[in-house]
Amino acid sequence: MNILVLNCGSSTVKFQIINTSSELIKNDGERCLASGNLEKIGSQEALVTMKATGKEPYKDVRPLSDHREAINVVLNWIDSGESQIEGINSLADINAVGHRVLHGGERFVQSVIVDEDVMKGIDECAVWGPLHNPANLKGIQACRALLGEKVPQVAVFDTDFHHTMAPEAFMYGLPYECYEKHGIRRYGFHGTSHRYITQKFAEVMKKDVSEVNIISLHLGNGCSACAIRNGKCVDTSMGLTPLEGLLMGTRCGDLDASILCFLAEKDGLNFQELNTLINKKSGVLGVSGISSDMRDLENAAVNEGNKRAQLALDMFCMRVKKYVGAYLAEMNGTEAIVFTGGIGQNSNYVRERVCSNMEYLGIVLDKEKNNTLPRSTGGVISAPESKLLVTVLPTNEELMIARDTLRLTEK
Ligand code: ADP
Repeated sequence: MNILVLNCGSSTVKFQIINTSSELIKNDGERCLASGNLEKIGSQEALVTMKATGKEPYKDVRPLSDHREAINVVLNWIDSGESQIEGINSLADINAVGHRVLHGGERFVQSVIVDEDVMKGIDECAVWGPLHNPANLKGIQACRALLGEKVPQVAVFDTDFHHTMAPEAFMYGLPYECYEKHGIRRYGFHGTSHRYITQKFAEVMKKDVSEVNIISLHLGNGCSACAIRNGKCVDTSMGLTPLEGLLMGTRCGDLDASILCFLAEKDGLNFQELNTLINKKSGVLGVSGISSDMRDLENAAVNEGNKRAQLALDMFCMRVKKYVGAYLAEMNGTEAIVFTGGIGQNSNYVRERVCSNMEYLGIVLDKEKNNTLPRSTGGVISAPESKLLVTVLPTNEELMIARDTLRLTEK
């Protein structure tokens, strides 16, 4: 089965075509046949990059007015012989589409086959994901129009893994009416990644998912920590939106909310400006004034002695440490800490800083292993005497979406 996995952002479309073979699926036997990235949708100079695995990329700069036009470009490329995708001669070879959907609210607690009612539900959840849910929906509508209703579509929600949180973990200390009237509560994100990590950890450790007790740290441009007990989420760091929790590339993470009132009063910032400040101008970018990219910061701090880059790194690592400590207390210990995401998988510096001075909690890193770990496969980086296992596992959200799509459409 060939599954088109789509991730439609506010001005981007990312895709992969994944071939899933039922006999091989348990052994990561799926193959990515092609992938691509369409950016700056809505502009005259949208960037298009699409590539069949093992072939030269197709690149173009062209006007793309909306998501439908962008998806049309992808589908035309797939349909044309020029794409040279192995085993795909035309659109008829695409059997199903899996969509990453940001916000599923309290309604969507697992992946679902898309129908009219589901589309309405995704639209209703747009109040909490105003930039992403409408884009996700546009992607679904475009695929319906261009591929026809016979090709099944599945929605996989970034929030669904976290629906098992208890009220004491997901409620804010606000008047209860805020929850009742507006659904204001913590929903959590990166659920597809944390779910993948849970399954992968079970597979590697040769145990059942229901026996997995870990803290999963997804550290990328967006960052979140997730406390997983018996294979289920009991707490996570992101909240109503992906802003809360860890310090991120451009998001501030945890913040005294009064600061927003202060800035509105003192600097006269309106809602839109405050929103941009905390989501786009903060995090390690805002603190360092240099970059949101961890590689640039490590370079500036370690090689050039830049103090603000160092401060941003120090704050980033300390915040992660703080959540690890909190979750260890909340869960009465765990079996392992798992690093994933672009930073978690690649930055031995961040991993070492997060795990340093944690012997009291039973965490001892093997520095040599941490420094020499192969990037693509990951592995254990804790020392033999460490009470907790510390591991790195590469995440694969697209694969998780493809697996859900296969499972739901095979029926
Ligand atoms: P997204 O959240 O958009 O999926 P990724 O998971 O790809 O992002 O993570 C992007 C982050 O990973 C960037 O901050 C980047 O600096 C960081 N990163 C990638 N490679 C390295 C590396 N070798 N060392 C340190 N950080 C890295």
